[in-house]
Amino acid sequence: MTSTHRQLDQLMTHTDTRRSLPSVDQILAWPLVRGMQAHHGQPLVKQAVSDLLSALRQNNLPCHPDTFAASVETYLHELLSPSLRKVFNLTGTVLHTNLGRAPLPEEAIQAMCDVARGASNLEFDLHKGKRGDRDSHIEDWLCRLTGAEAATVVNNNAAAVLLALNTLAKGKEVLVSRGELVEIGGSFRVPDIMLRAQCKLREVGTTNRTHLRDYTEAAGSRTGLLMTIHASNYVIQGFTASVPEAQLAEAARTLGLPYVIDLGSGSLVDLRRFGLPYEPTPMDSLKNGADLVTFSGDKLLGGPQAGIIVGRRELIERIKKNPLKRALRCDKLTLAALEAVLKLYADPDRLAEKLPSLRWLSRTQEHIAAQAQRLLPVFESWAGSRFAVSSLPSMGQIGSGALPIEQLHSQALAFAPQCSKREINRSLQALQRSLRTLPIPVIGRVSDNRLLLDLRCLDQEAELVEQLQRHPLQC
Ligand SMILES: *Cc1c(COP(=O)(O)O)cnc(C)c1O
Repeated sequence: MTSTHRQLDQLMTHTDTRRSLPSVDQILAWPLVRGMQAHHGQPLVKQAVSDLLSALRQNNLPCHPDTFAASVETYLHELLSPSLRKVFNLTGTVLHTNLGRAPLPEEAIQAMCDVARGASNLEFDLHKGKRGDRDSHIEDWLCRLTGAEAATVVNNNAAAVLLALNTLAKGKEVLVSRGELVEIGGSFRVPDIMLRAQCKLREVGTTNRTHLRDYTEAAGSRTGLLMTIHASNYVIQGFTASVPEAQLAEAARTLGLPYVIDLGSGSLVDLRRFGLPYEPTPMDSLKNGADLVTFSGDKLLGGPQAGIIVGRRELIERIKKNPLKRALRCDKLTLAALEAVLKLYADPDRLAEKLPSLRWLSRTQEHIAAQAQRLLPVFESWAGSRFAVSSLPSMGQIGSGALPIEQLHSQALAFAPQCSKREINRSLQALQRSLRTLPIPVIGRVSDNRLLLDLRCLDQEAELVEQLQRHPLQC
């Protein structure tokens, strides 16, 4: 239902007499509506009045002044509330691409605010007193943390891959295993990126097995580089073979070609430290001999949306000189947040405490179950008799393509509709809608005829409780 329709509904229920409609100007002169203009400005109020009036006219409805003024108020409120706003991610997927991926640590938020309010040394070298390079704020830290010679950063990892390919292999062939021609959610597809980077994709090997000779036999005078793309969101199982990074790096060196690895998620610490399964790191890929590694800033790194490229100095210098780098560069807010996040990695012992994404990922099921126990009575009284609420073990995911098979043991509050089988779907949909229309929308997932609210990513418990108490379920 659009907001206009909702206004109309209200009008229809409140109006009794039918008479000819006033003009927009007449309504704008009403004292109540004048007050709104003083508050919101004339153009918006005029638009609201004119839209609501034409809706009345179209439906041959009368205009009741009080109801009409209230409708204008509601219309303006809806129009002016932020479209992009916070939600509770209770889906169980920690780095949820549709829900904004990594939450930022306080240090990063503070750094963004500091540079947002006024001027900054974004491209100004404070030591030399002359023009500087915006990468300078993060490059040393990226090198220190990954062991790379040089680094640069762009808008996201898709941009990083595009830029690396276009710089090093424009008009040439790029050798990629058939098992790695991935599509990442949100329309990042390797063959499409190749085309836009003006490279020619040369598929080698087969879907399930690719050998070193597949690369070496395909390499020739037209080859620009060798590439490995991390199987972020799928696995190939069974009779499989792929070439280890170290072997491919050596072959590339022998052929005199760069070897680029798109790692996707790319954590800057070994996740096994936090009781999580191993996920490849840029450090390991560089040690294995990759010339360049690209990865995202807002996946396992836990920072702002960004695409990071680390590796050999000579190649990074060429990338920085590509005019596309200018088009794909990061803004000062991203750089400020990224710098703050990178510095947290200097102290790995306190990382899980400081970095929200890692804190969420490393929460134990016991800890989450205790939270579920606390929240169970709150949700029971919120839901009333329409749903049976219980606390259940559930399986979550890291998300954003990291470790697609690994699942995180978690705990969820489950809502089972107390209705006939036929009405279960409708009931679950109504429940989800009610949760989505709360002031801070709550997003869960449906599984097995129940709505699950996985509590792994619930930091602001008090805020959730308070909003549930103020807005009882109406569905
Ligand atoms: C996620 C991912 C990308 C795209 O990264 P964005 O930061 O979302 O642009 C590219 N390649 C791989 C392997 C990925 O996992």
